[in-house]
Amino acid sequence: MFDTLKRWLNHARKNKIATPAPELWARAEARLPFLDFLPEEARARLRALAVAFLGEKEFYGARGLRVDDDIMLSIALQACLLILGRGLAAYRGWVGIIVYPGDFIVPRRVMDEAGIVHEYDDPMLGEARADGPVIVAWFDGGPPGPGINVILHEFAHKLDMANGSADGFPNLPPGMSRRQWAAAFTAAYERLCRLDDAGIETILDPYAATHPGEFFAVASEAFFETPLSLRAAFPAVYAQLSAYYGLDTAEGEARTSGIRFATGTDTGNPPENAGDGNGGEMKP
Ligand SMILES: [Zn+2]
Repeated sequence: MFDTLKRWLNHARKNKIATPAPELWARAEARLPFLDFLPEEARARLRALAVAFLGEKEFYGARGLRVDDDIMLSIALQACLLILGRGLAAYRGWVGIIVYPGDFIVPRRVMDEAGIVHEYDDPMLGEARADGPVIVAWFDGGPPGPGINVILHEFAHKLDMANGSADGFPNLPPGMSRRQWAAAFTAAYERLCRLDDAGIETILDPYAATHPGEFFAVASEAFFETPLSLRAAFPAVYAQLSAYYGLDTAEGEARTSGIRFATGTDTGNPPENAGDGNGGEMKP
């Protein structure tokens, strides 16, 4: 598919932003209000990581999009939010980021079990390629829907793919238990699928019910964008993501919004239907 896309790409942006100006940081961060959930010391680390990320990766604009400094810095900040706890090595082995102006169509060609080839157009907001680039849609006016963050979503897939397919089971940092991760995510995914089958909405976008890999990516969006809702509805998943990303975003959101919780809130029995939608409509 990458070969097909090449026709649409502008030249790679190789001129890196070595030292983003204060007003550039301010503009990029103002578009990402969930960065306020980070502790102050993490904000500085995130900026340093974003600059290093820009030095390693290459941006390509598709369909005539000029990938300017604002777009690059915004994508770098969000991609690096996911690797604050582990550094750039987590994104080793690939360099390309393809940015589309809004959603895009990818022509698909699949052969079914009877040997018949089906061709169709697949509307996309993003795609992470195990063997290559991350592809994301960029929306000048902000995300295409409430809580939808295609950038966090696709880079979460990229982390998941570092040890094989996007199956919702990424490499875990030292000290985390694979057994506990599997238990938390399997139970939550199965619960979400049951609720989805019953037509009951949760705080996660129903797209999370399509595959364990999508559940991880959508839950990661929620972990950064609406962490209090995620912690209330899926406390075990929140706890695993908190250990995985090395952040307590829910406490950050509570601090930012002035909400105070009694100790142990996240161990209680969660509401199944806690309100705001979150996630993405993108394809795997
Ligand atoms: Zn996905």
